[in-house]
Amino acid sequence: MAENNTRELIIIGSGPAGYTAAIYAARAELKPLVLAGGEMGGQLMITTDVENYPGFPDGILGPQLMDAFRAQAERFGAEVIPVDVTRVDFSSRPFRVWTGSEEYRARSVIVSTGASAKWLGVPGEVEYRGRGVSACATCDGFFFKGKRVVVVGGGDVAMEEATFLSRFATSVTVVHRRDQLRASKSMQQRAFNDPKISFVWDSVVEEILGEGTVTGVRVRNVNTGETDVIETDGVFIAIGHQPNTELFKGQLELDAKGYVVMPNPETAETNVEGVFAAGDVRDHRYRQAVTAAGDGCKAAMDAERWLEEQGEAVNLEAEVYSFPR
Ligand SMILES: Cc1cc2nc3c(=O)[nH]c(=O)nc-3n(C[C@H](O)[C@H](O)[C@H](O)COP(=O)(O)OP(=O)(O)OC[C@H]3O[C@@H](n4cnc5c(N)ncnc54)[C@H](O)[C@@H]3O)c2cc1C
Repeated sequence: MAENNTRELIIIGSGPAGYTAAIYAARAELKPLVLAGGEMGGQLMITTDVENYPGFPDGILGPQLMDAFRAQAERFGAEVIPVDVTRVDFSSRPFRVWTGSEEYRARSVIVSTGASAKWLGVPGEVEYRGRGVSACATCDGFFFKGKRVVVVGGGDVAMEEATFLSRFATSVTVVHRRDQLRASKSMQQRAFNDPKISFVWDSVVEEILGEGTVTGVRVRNVNTGETDVIETDGVFIAIGHQPNTELFKGQLELDAKGYVVMPNPETAETNVEGVFAAGDVRDHRYRQAVTAAGDGCKAAMDAERWLEEQGEAVNLEAEVYSFPR
């Protein structure tokens, strides 16, 4: 690819973070290229009602919201291509990004490849996703007001989800495959002290049952092999998330769980100058569409400023060299 085809900015990923970065960057005339990935629109494409994204008092369907994000980015000149990035080279500039055999070059890159909830992979899980099966209590807890829920998992996130859900649900049953929790002592204590939360130990969910929506889970005791059905209206899978960063191993600093490390967390800077990160790929704490969008805005503004500084540096250099001797 010729040097003059080098883009100002490539954005990898098209969830709320990537599209928001694209809106800001396009309005700043950076003509961003969004390499959207196979899951165009990101995680919200697999959900139904989004009730907590500001500006939609009656809620909005996830795919509809993401179509609007995309239309807004394209309106200002962002180019969106629905391809997966297969390789990157951030070791020298311009940065290089491949989608199979196609190579793209850019002066700056925003990484917004998100994260994926880990699922159990049991029958009924895909079928009832969005109809009782969820991986996000903050997102969906409100729908279970006055209903029974099951939480699967034993770590901090599972206890946080269980405690949060007990505000709405009549009962919260935590199903955990071991006989003790992995969660921190304080998180455990909060859950143990909550009268609405009960525990089913040494058990795994084998199947999610339903008739249109979830009606129960079939659990198996891992010690005795006995199975039982727990009647419930909802199942929250809280066994962790996996950031989509396989691609960036050896290119960007990642933490032990694979999240992008932000040396200066007030900014969107990664450890590689000119490469920025936004959204769930760097955030294991909030994991919300609105926080990802906010991150995308920050990343685009940081990239724009950084490019401007680089541009000035180049011009300054040119001036120095053209100075009469
Ligand atoms: C079922 C469900 C319901 C949810 N409900 C809500 C809700 O009601 N409210 C709320 O605020 N949040 C909700 N969330 C959380 C919210 O969806 C995420 O926090 C948000 O989508 C994160 O945005 P993101 O842009 O960081 O990443 P994502 O949305 O995960 O997007 C990642 C993007 O990266 C792309 N990508 C990945 N790998 C590559 C690659 N190799 N090359 C190119 N592109 C790549 C994908 O195609 C995708 O476009 C929900 C999540 C789920 C799973």
